[in-house]
Amino acid sequence: MIVDAHVHLFPPRVVTDRESYLERDAWFRQLYAAPKARIASAEDLLRSMDEAGVDRSVVAAFPWRDQTLCEQHNGHFRTLAGDERLRFLCTVQPRAGQRAVDELRRCLDAGFAGLGEMNVDAQGVELAEDDCWGPLVEVLVEAAGVLMLHSSEPVGHQYPGKGANTPEKIYRFALAHPELKLVAAHWGGGLPFYYLMPELGPSLPNLYFDSAATEFLYDSRVYERVIGAAGPERAMFGSDYPLLPQARALGHARSAVVAEDAPFYGSAAAAVYGL
Ligand SMILES: [Zn+2]
Repeated sequence: MIVDAHVHLFPPRVVTDRESYLERDAWFRQLYAAPKARIASAEDLLRSMDEAGVDRSVVAAFPWRDQTLCEQHNGHFRTLAGDERLRFLCTVQPRAGQRAVDELRRCLDAGFAGLGEMNVDAQGVELAEDDCWGPLVEVLVEAAGVLMLHSSEPVGHQYPGKGANTPEKIYRFALAHPELKLVAAHWGGGLPFYYLMPELGPSLPNLYFDSAATEFLYDSRVYERVIGAAGPERAMFGSDYPLLPQARALGHARSAVVAEDAPFYGSAAAAVYGL
């Protein structure tokens, strides 16, 4: 089974009324002001999966800063939640308190896999703010849900949406919440390198990494380096579709990870997201 553990969909109203959402959310504007920045519908995604030979996709929401926009996005995902090829993540504004906790519970009850893609820079809340994150983590741990987090490289080129959620912040958060299933997207901003330190692996039993947007960030050596350093069960394929077409992202990975039955292509993500 091929799993794409990181794709994005938006509700149809965001597609048809893109201009007004550009005004309503600064991070959305940063990513989608350019008319060529693609936004996909559920139909687009399912067609792409058929073409690329992807069996399951983990569909992330957008880290809106406004809780109401998060809830509207999640509400659209709840209408799609019956499709067995798709597993959904919701977003909430961590500062929204009980309202965020209630919304997360509502989505978990509807079969969502957890929260994502959460983004501390987009949402204006650092991982160190435990009064915001603590109650959400508690709900996720209780439900064996996943938190998928945008991650940022502390070095290298700048790009829209890069942010500053760098490895040391993710490390401290994962260390503080060892029972939480945490997926640090985009190879965790480089955190896997530190698995070469012997104490790291045992201290982070539930931290995983996805390959979203690899082709824009790294050359193809990154796949085997992460799998080698952090372990095959910790690395999962994600395209960041529609930023990258699924078939193209898979082709990039296959140029490096040649074993079709590598956990990277499916079983690692299936274990984490409960597919
Ligand atoms: Zn991201």
